[in-house]
Amino acid sequence: MAEYETVAHLAPAVRELRSEAAGILPRLAGRTMWMVNSTAVGGGVAEMLPALVTLLRDLGVRAEWVVIGSDEPAFFDLTKRIHNLIHGAGDPLLGAAERQLFEAVNRKNTEELTRLVRPGDVVVVHDPQPLPLAGLLPATVPLIKIWRCHIGLDAENAATRAAWDFLDPYLVAFDHAVFSAPEYIPKRLAGKSTVIYPGIDPLAPKNRELSLRGAVAVLCNSGLLVCPGPTVYPQYPAQAQRTLPDGSFAPANSIADIGLLTRPIITQVSRWDRLKGFLPLLEAFTELKKSIRNSETGGETVHARRLDLARLVLAGPDPGSIQDDPEAQQVLRELVAAYTSLPGPTQDDIAIVTLPMGSQEQNALMVNALQRASSVVVQNSLREGFGLTIAEAMWKRIPVLSNSRACGPRVQVRDGIDGRLIQDPTDVHELEHAMRDMLSDPERQEYWGRNAQRRVHELFLVTSQLRSWGRLLAQMPALMEFPRRSAPEGR
Ligand code: UDP
Repeated sequence: MAEYETVAHLAPAVRELRSEAAGILPRLAGRTMWMVNSTAVGGGVAEMLPALVTLLRDLGVRAEWVVIGSDEPAFFDLTKRIHNLIHGAGDPLLGAAERQLFEAVNRKNTEELTRLVRPGDVVVVHDPQPLPLAGLLPATVPLIKIWRCHIGLDAENAATRAAWDFLDPYLVAFDHAVFSAPEYIPKRLAGKSTVIYPGIDPLAPKNRELSLRGAVAVLCNSGLLVCPGPTVYPQYPAQAQRTLPDGSFAPANSIADIGLLTRPIITQVSRWDRLKGFLPLLEAFTELKKSIRNSETGGETVHARRLDLARLVLAGPDPGSIQDDPEAQQVLRELVAAYTSLPGPTQDDIAIVTLPMGSQEQNALMVNALQRASSVVVQNSLREGFGLTIAEAMWKRIPVLSNSRACGPRVQVRDGIDGRLIQDPTDVHELEHAMRDMLSDPERQEYWGRNAQRRVHELFLVTSQLRSWGRLLAQMPALMEFPRRSAPEGR
């Protein structure tokens, strides 16, 4: 927190947070706030928790982060299915075998948590994977239990109904639920739910300011750039990989430079998930390139040259590294297959990049530098509760192109003010036009970028998120009633 206060434009946010927190802190004294989720790396939740926990601790709250695990790939297959069903997609048949697996893994994970929690503690369960934990914790230990669901869909279909019916028995154990958008609150949780926007940490390696030299060094050291000269720091042990025309992967700078420092770059950084809309984005960019090559003006005007030089970077984590995302390999394979079928010159203009996850800090710096090297950041999600990548790019004053039908992006980005929103992320034509428009107007890019940063400042920083949590906790009668420990227990 002290570090935030040293940054001129962040100091007011910290002051506001401290003064608002003063009311609730005495009620949290002696309690531990447990954050429980299913993965330490990869995806938005793992991204947000460290900053949240650190700031809570800075405020004087005892906060702990517990990652539930499982050696059973079938468990993560199931939770991935539930994730997709909540987003309205997939086979809705969830039966007794699935319930048994879901509960068995959670029962095992409850054992450890049971040893840790004390009466009066606050347990915040993130997303569906650890959902049954709340009901499995011993009833003899009074706890305040909150479910923080980061996903949802603003519509109902057979898939969403199946997911919520499956999850229903576990919901009653919670005192309250938190969602990222009002549209996501299922009927059965109406009246005991609150909306809290996620927030990004502006000083984390993912978002912190990078000097020109620093950004170039990160790109060089990670292999995202053909290095123009020697660098002070050595190469990262694991290098970013890029798809070759035959579909294999090699260090991203091994064949030719992507052009991150000199070309207009359109970037999407996401998990390899079908709902992130990578494939239509690749198709739209391919169309854009095709129409430029067929156009008569060629590269004569500055505008034509801008489009001619533009490149698309599709980046995501090394798929081998994320245990709870079994679909990632498949999605990446499909994308690579589409890439290999493109004509050579179009392939040159598209880089499918995998970012090593061995070091979280280096991975974050790579994403940071990639986003900063972009003229436009796209988040072409078909569904998106809240796009952290959107907030990250906006914070860096990079204009964002996203989908107005997804609940998160339409709150995050005001179309034409902070960036652009399209109606349909699968409409290749619409996407192509939007990219073309955005690329061709550098003045508007500046305008969108400035507004975007201001919007994140006001609404989507971790400090605003913590204030919302404070307000929620302050309203919870249980925080007054439940016992708490009188002294720390030496954990
Ligand atoms: N991310 C990352 N490395 C990658 C790909 C993604 O650190 O190789 C991060 C990305 O910067 C963002 C998070 O993963 O912070 C994804 O969060 P988002 O809300 O965009 O999507 P989710 O994964 O939660 O669906």
